[in-house]
Amino acid sequence: MKVDNKKVVAIHYTLTDTSGQVMDSSSGSDPLNYLHGFGNIIPGLEEALVGKTTGDKISVSIPPEKAYGVYNEQDKLQVNKSQFEGIDEIKIGMDIQTKTEQGVKIYRVEKVFGDTVILDGNHTLAGETLNFEVEVMDIRDASQEEVDHGHVHGPGAHDH
Ligand code: ZN
Repeated sequence: MKVDNKKVVAIHYTLTDTSGQVMDSSSGSDPLNYLHGFGNIIPGLEEALVGKTTGDKISVSIPPEKAYGVYNEQDKLQVNKSQFEGIDEIKIGMDIQTKTEQGVKIYRVEKVFGDTVILDGNHTLAGETLNFEVEVMDIRDASQEEVDHGHVHGPGAHDH
């Protein structure tokens, strides 16, 4: 079986940044199970895995455009503290959910001065080129329910 749309793929991966520092890895824990073709993982990694089979190992460098996006200086908001109802303390680095025209979006608190809060809507990995070492551990057909939901069910996945 080969990696293709509507397959559930189990991978072990190690993510390093351009300086070679490990940023994330599944090593030492269960492999990551994802549903291929549904945007469960970044586009560049999906592309690199198409046609691969169990046991294949790949090494791929993914530019920001196919990872978490280019850093967008415009994607910031300046808001007043009074807008954060129900949040006791606003700390730098915390994530805030905000309703936008495109739906709910996560912003990270970048700066707080006085009553002013600067929020950054860029992903923490925006602008980064990501290097992945990936090994395909298992491939199976997705169930119809998984396809309908657009994500994996079963062990290691949340059921809903
Ligand atoms: Zn579901």
